[in-house]
Amino acid sequence: MTTGSTSFGRRSTRQVMVGSVPVGGGAPITVQSMTTTKTADVDGTLAQIYALKAAGADIVRCTCNERAAAEGLARIVPRSPVPIVADIHFHVEMALAALEAGVHCLRLNPGNLRKADEIRLVARECKDRGVPVRIGVNAGSLDPRLMEKHGGATPEALVESAQIELGLFAEEGFDDVKISVKASNVPLMIEAYRQLAEVTDHPLHLGVTEAGPPPAGVIKSTAGIATLLGEGIGDTIRYSLTTDPVEEAKAGRTLLEALGLRKRSSVDLIACPACGRAEIDVYKVAQEAQAAFETRQIPLQIAVMGCVVNGPGEARSADLGIAAGRRRGHLFIRGEIVRVVPEAEMVTALVEEAEKLMAEGFEARLAAADSTAAKEAEADRLALLGDQGSDANHSEERIDLIAKRLADPRSQEG
Ligand code: SF4
Repeated sequence: MTTGSTSFGRRSTRQVMVGSVPVGGGAPITVQSMTTTKTADVDGTLAQIYALKAAGADIVRCTCNERAAAEGLARIVPRSPVPIVADIHFHVEMALAALEAGVHCLRLNPGNLRKADEIRLVARECKDRGVPVRIGVNAGSLDPRLMEKHGGATPEALVESAQIELGLFAEEGFDDVKISVKASNVPLMIEAYRQLAEVTDHPLHLGVTEAGPPPAGVIKSTAGIATLLGEGIGDTIRYSLTTDPVEEAKAGRTLLEALGLRKRSSVDLIACPACGRAEIDVYKVAQEAQAAFETRQIPLQIAVMGCVVNGPGEARSADLGIAAGRRRGHLFIRGEIVRVVPEAEMVTALVEEAEKLMAEGFEARLAAADSTAAKEAEADRLALLGDQGSDANHSEERIDLIAKRLADPRSQEG
C-alpha cells in the first residue's frame, strides 16, 4: 500500500460527516478522545472538551449513560468547539435521548445493544436526522453468541459482529456508518481491522482498547494504530489511555504528525462554535486572528470566544484568549482576565499580548494584568446573563424532548 518512501497510500473509503468534520473519503485522518467527567457536569465537561481540542482532538466522545448525561449533552453540544459523539451501551433509550440532545454521532456497542428491533429503530432515527453512527465492536464485550460460534473473540468474530449490525442498518436503508473493531491485544486488533478493510468501504476508527497507562499504553496503541496506518488502513484514531485524556489527544496528534499525515501550524488557534450567547461574529474574528498569526512564529494555543459569560472558563486551558461582551473584548491568560479592550481592537490586542507573552513569559504578563479588568469582565458577564437569560441556547426545550422520549421511546415514530 505504500506509494513512496515519505508518504502512505490510503484505502479508499466512503465519507461520513461527524458534524462539520469529514471522516474517510480522503479527508485528513482525525484524532478523537473521550471525556472522563460526568456528562451531567456541563462546565467541567466543556472545559475538558476545550482542553482536548487544544491538545489536538478533532472529535470528542462523551458518555450518555443516564438521563442526567443526556440533559448535559443538550447543554454541551451547542457550546462545544468540536463535534460530539454520544457513547451508548445497553440502553436504546439513551441513544434516542442523545439524538434529542442534538449530538453529531452515536457510538453503538453491538455487544451489549443486541435487540434487532431496537437497533433498527435507532437506524431509522439517525437516517431521518442525518446523524451517523459508529459501530463500536469491542473484543471485551463481544456478543456471547459470536464468542461461542468462533470459540472466543477472534478477528473473524469481531468482523462478523460489525457486519451483523451493518446488515440491520441496511434493512432500514441506513449506511452513514464508520466502524471500529477494537481489542486490547495488539495482534488481534491489527488482524481484525485488516479483515474488516477487505470486506467494507466504510471509514474505520482505529484504536487499541484499554491500552492502560503510559508509557506502555502509548506504545501498545502506537504499535496497533501505526501498523495499520502504514498499510493505508484507518480514517480516524483514538488512543485509549488510563490517564488524563489530554494525553490521548496529544499522542494521536503526535503520531499523525510523525507519519506526515497531519501538518502542524505554529499558532494553535481554537474558537468556540458561536452558540446563542455569541456577542460577535466568531467566524470573522477567528479568521482575522488566523490571518494575523499566520505570518508569526508564535507557538501558543490561542482562543477566540464568542461571549464572556462562558468563554474564559471554557477555554481556560488555552495560553491566551479573548472573549466578547457588550462591545468589548476581554483578554485572558490561562483563564484569568488581564485586560478589557474595545471590540474593534480585539485581534490587535490578541496579537500584541501574544508577542508580549513570548517576550516576557506568563508570570510577568499575569503580574502586569490590569487590576480592574476582572471586575469589569464580571460586570459584563452578569449584565449579559441578565439580557440573555440563563437559557440562550434553548437547551431546556431539548431537555423537554428528552423527557418525552424517555417516557415513550417510540413517540417519534409515524
Ligand atoms: S458564545 Fe459563549 S457560551 Fe456560546 S460557545 Fe461561545 S463561548 Fe461558549
